[in-house]
Amino acid sequence: KAKSMGRGAYCTFEEGMDAAMKVRRELEADLAVAIERDEFELYFQPRMAVADGSLAGYEALIRWHHPTRGLVSPTDFIPVAEHSGQIVQIGKWVLINACRITKQDFGERHVSVNVSPLQFRDKAFVDTVEEALKGSGLDAEKLEIEITENVVIDDDARALTILKALKRLGVRIALDDFGTGYSALGYLSRFPFDAIKIDRSFIAGLQTSDNAMAIVQTILKLGRALGMRLVAEGVETSSQLRLLVAEGCDEVQGYLIGKPTPRKIVPTGAPPIALKTVAAASAGTKEI
Ligand code: C2E
Ligand code: MG
Ligand code: MG
Ligand code: MG
Repeated sequence: KAKSMGRGAYCTFEEGMDAAMKVRRELEADLAVAIERDEFELYFQPRMAVADGSLAGYEALIRWHHPTRGLVSPTDFIPVAEHSGQIVQIGKWVLINACRITKQDFGERHVSVNVSPLQFRDKAFVDTVEEALKGSGLDAEKLEIEITENVVIDDDARALTILKALKRLGVRIALDDFGTGYSALGYLSRFPFDAIKIDRSFIAGLQTSDNAMAIVQTILKLGRALGMRLVAEGVETSSQLRLLVAEGCDEVQGYLIGKPTPRKIVPTGAPPIALKTVAAASAGTKEI
């Protein structure tokens, strides 16, 4: 059968695999020295409280300035680091720096930090969180850990133990990319989540798809019934914002509110300009 595909097709497939493996191996090797060479940077994206248009906090998002490849997206290197185990070290760097920058530059606002499955299950993870808080002086209550469904479905009991330990420290837990995973809804009531972040794919469909609207409404209702804060991701247009305000979403995040920005550019304590503009827009929306 392989023969009938022709030698060319076979070779192309092999070469494609080789190329992908080669890139992965290269990234892995480069990641090993990226922390020492200071190639990572944290960007911060604002989240806006719908109720009063105030700055609810930031999400810390990692960026990698690769010496030859330029800016490498976390979507490309986080999976490599997760596969190799390097995510544990990188994630520690993120936690320590996100807490430190938040304490120093953002007037102690809330900060959300993404944590990947392997990092979450690492036996030192809870200690690392505690260290990051102690080292920075940031109140535990100001830190929110974002995890995705995949983090909790693999091992219920262990995940619950870790989440409870985090709650004992006083940090908040958010469920990221909600609606894109494969798990049943039962886990929502078993785990102590403080917030749900509605995946941006649903927000993107809000104006064009009745189904997306129905899904968003249902998630909002479900989250509210469970006493959780609801955050919409990827809000890009004012009509999306208007719909989310009308449906009672608690917080919004997206390019409309503010893009992820390196910390150096965000002025100390002050919200980005875009935030004030949107705050005014959403305040107006409620009167309609
Ligand atoms: P995420 O946690 O769901 O983060 C939101 C992503 O959506 C970010 O992409 C952000 O830049 C992007 N985004 C924000 N607003 C908009 C919008 O209005 N429209 C669109 N199209 N996109 C928007 P980013 O920074 O490239 O990160 C991608 C993913 O990489 C994150 O998704 C998260 O899963 C992961 N990631 C980022 N930083 C870290 C980190 O420090 N640790 C770990 N473990 N994962 C991270
Ligand atoms: Mg996130
Ligand atoms: Mg997300
Ligand atoms: Mg994501």
